Amino acid sequence: MDIDDVVQEAGQWKQKYFTQLEEAERREKQWNEADELLRKTISRLTLAADGLDDVLDRQLRELRNAIRDRAATLQLRTLIEDMSRTLVRLDSERTEERPAVDTVPLLDLLDALTLPQDARRKAAVLKKQLESHAIDERAAIQSFTGLVQGALAQVSGEAGQADNQAARSGLFQRLFGASESRDASAPADSGSRRAQQALQQTTESVRAVLLRLLECLSLPPELVDRVRDIRSRIEATGEGESWDGILEQIADLIQVIRARTLEEKQGVEEFLVQLGERFQEVNRQLQESGQQYDEALQAGEQLDSDVKAGMAGIGDSVRDATDFDRLRQDIQTHVDAVITHLDRHRETEKQRFEQAKTQIATMSGRLLELEKETAELRSRVKQERNQAKIDPLTGIPNRLAYEERLEQEVARWKRFATPLVLVMWDIDLFKEVNDRFGHRAGDKVLRTIARTLESGIRETDFVARYGGEEFVQLMTGSSLQECLQVAEKLRESIRATGFHFREQAITITASCGLAEFRDGDSIGPWFERADKALYRAKQEGRDRCVLAS
Ligand code: GH3
Ligand code: MG
Ligand code: MG
Repeated sequence: MDIDDVVQEAGQWKQKYFTQLEEAERREKQWNEADELLRKTISRLTLAADGLDDVLDRQLRELRNAIRDRAATLQLRTLIEDMSRTLVRLDSERTEERPAVDTVPLLDLLDALTLPQDARRKAAVLKKQLESHAIDERAAIQSFTGLVQGALAQVSGEAGQADNQAARSGLFQRLFGASESRDASAPADSGSRRAQQALQQTTESVRAVLLRLLECLSLPPELVDRVRDIRSRIEATGEGESWDGILEQIADLIQVIRARTLEEKQGVEEFLVQLGERFQEVNRQLQESGQQYDEALQAGEQLDSDVKAGMAGIGDSVRDATDFDRLRQDIQTHVDAVITHLDRHRETEKQRFEQAKTQIATMSGRLLELEKETAELRSRVKQERNQAKIDPLTGIPNRLAYEERLEQEVARWKRFATPLVLVMWDIDLFKEVNDRFGHRAGDKVLRTIARTLESGIRETDFVARYGGEEFVQLMTGSSLQECLQVAEKLRESIRATGFHFREQAITITASCGLAEFRDGDSIGPWFERADKALYRAKQEGRDRCVLAS
């Protein structure tokens, strides 16, 4: 072999070295693509989990920022681990903390009832149990129903025996808080009449309380008809008639709602579990690809130093050469060594590359699946959350949504002090509509008026069905006088809506009270001012808007 051969061989391994470099660059590009995919996946997953928990939200924000700022893989990994821990915590908390009963409606009712002595004791026990969630839903409803039935039985029984009525009639009035003073003014000898009167008052109160209970329930749309039936039955029940069947129906209804709520909660829980698994999966991928990347880097560095050593060896040989044959042999040995290194390196890199290619292919596939799944989960959670805040009868926001919005608007007022006005609407003589034309007609009126109110306000304003035939409206950025003008216009539109029932043209009107949030105000007094103004509107003849004083 002469010097030309040596030069040719040296050229060969140089060529090989360059090929390796090119391949390394291509691989680098692949790694970057994989990294990009991972970042996208994480970003989407974080969006899917938004709004479930404050701590989680903060972590999700951090993670998204880190992704946006192209933080190092290691930092992402730490953030994802933090989040996985939060998800695990949330998941176990949700299972532990879930109250046995949604206690609010029952507690409200217990407060509304003024029960006889022994029933009161039982009510106190039930209240404690409800407050500490120490009772399951079936037992709570049974206990509550029993309580009301017992108290009612006592009242009806007493109404039947008029003789010793005079002495005990105060009891009827106490149940459901009927007025004591009116009874005191009745003639002392008309025990039977007083009992009858008391029973009538009691029936009225029971009716009001039960109707209020129905209003408290947050209803899924498919239960609206059922509630309408119950309401009709409540209204048709006369004095002395049994409430048993109705109470049972309400208890059933509460069970159904409870079951649904539970189902929804389970949906969210499942979602959390799935999300946690996804994050772990992404984490694993990150670790794997990070490791491979490190290995590839190391192998590249190794190759580099091997090649450099080979070249240094050649340099040494040339410098120290005394005879040509020795030099040739030395160079040959170094070149052989470098070529072996290159071959081996190419072989392992080829394998690693194949592995990475498969991994990227699987990841792309998984990402597509994940994208679909997260989109579905997200829309489901969103839908469930929205549904809880929509009144099923009218389709406008309900009281829960109103209370949420109220907090936001008051907070905004405290920061920017732009005018904030509350308008309380109440349909005039609505009972009459129901009585004359039936509940379906009444419902139709509610829907129409809800639409009128909703379409007549600005986008930044808000209107909700507060309950029954009452609506609340929040207006921002306009003075009280300007709001009054808007309200007057709305009142006119309601009045001008043509209703036809049983071929009769009916004019329906509504009244409202307006109050402005002011310095040192809080929600309670503000609401009361609007309510008082509404009351004045009614007193002054209805179909009018009144400003709070
Ligand atoms: P006022 O002008 O003083 O407000 O008289 P009103 O008859 O409207 O007042 P009241 O509050 O006594 O009556 C409200 C009625 O609204 C009683 C109840 O039967 C009816 N109501 C409440 N919720 C609904 C509902 O969802 N559908 C129907 N059809 N009627 C309802
Ligand atoms: Mg009313
Ligand atoms: Mg009314």
